Amino acid sequence: LFITFEGPDGAGKTTQLRRLASFLAPRLKRPVITTREPGGTRIGDAIRAILLDPAHVELCREAEVLLYAASRAQHVAERIRPALAAGAVVLCDRYVDASLAYQAAGLGVDPAVVAAINRFATGGLLPHRTYLLDIDPAEGLRRVRARRGQGADRIEQKALAYHQRVREAFLRLAANDPQRIRVLDASRPEEEIAREIAADCWALCRR
Ligand code: C5P
Ligand code: MG
Repeated sequence: LFITFEGPDGAGKTTQLRRLASFLAPRLKRPVITTREPGGTRIGDAIRAILLDPAHVELCREAEVLLYAASRAQHVAERIRPALAAGAVVLCDRYVDASLAYQAAGLGVDPAVVAAINRFATGGLLPHRTYLLDIDPAEGLRRVRARRGQGADRIEQKALAYHQRVREAFLRLAANDPQRIRVLDASRPEEEIAREIAADCWALCRR
């Protein structure tokens, strides 16, 4: 079972992913693996450092699309597919939807191109379920700054309008694929969101 978490920065993806892992791990006989993008492998972490360094102002959008896809290709080949083949539940912080939101809608790259590059990168592997934690980006970025002080990464530093396009793109993706993508209002209490995700995911695991 392959599950991903998506949403604007500061929506609480990482927190909810950890909570779901702690809920599932003691209840399931199979392993529960948590991972993230960009990153998740040694190669992917090196690519992540290139992508998020605020000093890399000259990074062009074509290179940005390909670097996210390269990190993802390595991640799928080295970690996700082997874990799924071993029967694990894989919980992943961001995946292809993030590229359709951040790189296609955010940067203005043709979504068909981003989708095609990512089909190549992943061999077409899609999540069984995606939890979209939806939040007003202004609120999300406030949370990020409160959590981390000054240290915003290259993407978090972009204009609010960029982050608004990203949020809207996530919501459109969810509207087009309601079977896979579940939207959760991330302005609600953490506890309440965690309960809903756990209930939904538990039902999936028992299916
Ligand atoms: O999820 P996390 O905040 O760790 O992601 C790191 C950064 O990469 C974030 O600022 C996120 O907005 C950005 N990102 C992106 N495009 C992706 C995935 C992540 O711009 N496809
Ligand atoms: Mg972030």
